[in-house]
Amino acid sequence: MEFQFSAGALGALLAIAAGCVLLQRFFRSKLSRDQYFYMRDLSLMSVMMLLALWSGSDRIEALVACSLLAMVIGLAEQARPSRGFYSFIVLPGLIFALTGQPISFVSSAGSTFLYLTQWQSVVLTTAWMTLFPVLFRRLDQIPGLAGHLLGVSLSLMSAVTYFSRQNLNEAFLVSLVSLVLVCAYWSRLGHQFRQLGAPLASLWGTLVAGISIIGVSKGITLTALMVIPLGFYAVPLAEMSLGLVSHAFTHAPAHPVDLYSRVIERGVDHPAAVRLVTEICFLVGGSVSLMQLMPDSAALKMVVPVMAGLLLLVLWGVHGGRRPRANGHSLWGVKIDGISMNYALSKTLAWLRSDERKFRMVVTLNALGLNETRSDADFRRLANEADLTLPDGSGLVWAMRKLKMPVVERIAGVDYMDRLCRLAASEGIPIYLLGGRPGISRRAAEKLMKLHPGLIVTGCYDGYFDRAYSTKIAEHIRESGARILFAALGMPAQEKWLDSQRQALDGVLCVGVGGSFDVYAGVLKRAPKFWQKIGCEWLYRLFQEPWRIKRDLQLFSFVIMVLRERFNIFPWKDPEEKR
Ligand code: UDP
Repeated sequence: MEFQFSAGALGALLAIAAGCVLLQRFFRSKLSRDQYFYMRDLSLMSVMMLLALWSGSDRIEALVACSLLAMVIGLAEQARPSRGFYSFIVLPGLIFALTGQPISFVSSAGSTFLYLTQWQSVVLTTAWMTLFPVLFRRLDQIPGLAGHLLGVSLSLMSAVTYFSRQNLNEAFLVSLVSLVLVCAYWSRLGHQFRQLGAPLASLWGTLVAGISIIGVSKGITLTALMVIPLGFYAVPLAEMSLGLVSHAFTHAPAHPVDLYSRVIERGVDHPAAVRLVTEICFLVGGSVSLMQLMPDSAALKMVVPVMAGLLLLVLWGVHGGRRPRANGHSLWGVKIDGISMNYALSKTLAWLRSDERKFRMVVTLNALGLNETRSDADFRRLANEADLTLPDGSGLVWAMRKLKMPVVERIAGVDYMDRLCRLAASEGIPIYLLGGRPGISRRAAEKLMKLHPGLIVTGCYDGYFDRAYSTKIAEHIRESGARILFAALGMPAQEKWLDSQRQALDGVLCVGVGGSFDVYAGVLKRAPKFWQKIGCEWLYRLFQEPWRIKRDLQLFSFVIMVLRERFNIFPWKDPEEKR
């Protein structure tokens, strides 16, 4: 019986899909993780079965039954891995060949058809129906990939069968229903960090293979049969066969040849790599489908691969060609410690407690500071040589996250100073404050002593001293017995000053803290939590110090630089490397 698809049927299908989504939502908080997974797979199975019965088509019923059988075999295999259930994987294909609609003829080009004998037809259909579950399982080794390529295949199959001038109602119906179900169960099937598992990979593999056979039965040639599914999997399949061949001829450990692994090798992270492979498969499959559907004009058909090629290049530029500029922990040649506040403090405390007395420096870097390092090689060297370079400023944390650098949280200089003073108070470690306008460091010290009773401040000095006396001042600081020096002379002046006084400040842990003294002295108001949370602390400070506008405008250039880096558009080149 032929099934005719109507608007009403589409409405009913969408309502069923919405029901499936609601069902999953309802049970999510009620079941344990494993129960929830089983519930989803079983409900998918039941809905599929009901929809097949609803279609009233014998072929669809046979295909869905065989797909569900493949799923049951997968479940058995999962439950008893050692019992050899894997060999039963040919069974659904064989049953479909005997009861459904086997491939009865093939045609390589033009209108030359080769009609198959019955047993040839059964063998070819079984092989075809077995190939896909195997392929799906292979793809499923990379979490998320099988689900994504399934979505691509079904979208293209729905489009091809819908727009084809041949009457492909049944193939269209199964493709569309499957696509809608994939969408309804997307959180299970398309999760980038989860695998489908043997049961679902077998179910969908069998179904996709069957759809292509049902589609071909109405007259699409073998080219279409090969091309529709192969188009979707072309890249992984071609690469997979290459891999198998190379494996067969060499004893060397197999080098990963599939596209996904190559993309990963280029420094793209897993979700982006899955997206890239999906997009490429979509382009390849889409172009092949378009060429199939287009009128017979060679010139017109050429447009498709050319366009697809161009798009591929763009895609490669956007994701695949991107090498990690942010090389692990460094950005633009500056290493940044994306650690947590607690870890930074425990590291600092360990240095202070250790017997090894040496000059140490902690840099609290913000976006403007990092911008500065691009043109100031000396500051770049200092930031790199520092014992800790902490991400002060939400702009910098945003950039690190955008460029996939490891970063736990923002560590604002003013907060780090506060926490370190608390530790210093409880451990009896003396501190010294250097910087700020006259009187500011003293007021800051008083405030800190109030906040942290027991804090020992061995001295304060304003930041507008004659630089000719730098060494004298540094020696005075060390001789005061201070173990921690907070320097607020502005960035990068404070880091450069500290570095120039390394010897005089031997045994002192120095921290550059910019405008923090002004905050403790009450001259500058710290932005409320909300402003900090939305990353606009700089704006709050700008209201209080409007003269900063010229400096803050550089934030725009920072954002542009980060995006250029992200999309690999004339990224930063290390001047050292250029030489
Ligand atoms: N400052 C200083 N001596 C100088 C320049 C600046 O003591 O020669 C002080 C200034 O009074 C302020 C602090 O350094 O308290 C921070 O300055 P700025 O706002 O320029 O630095 P940022 O917070 O941007 O690092």
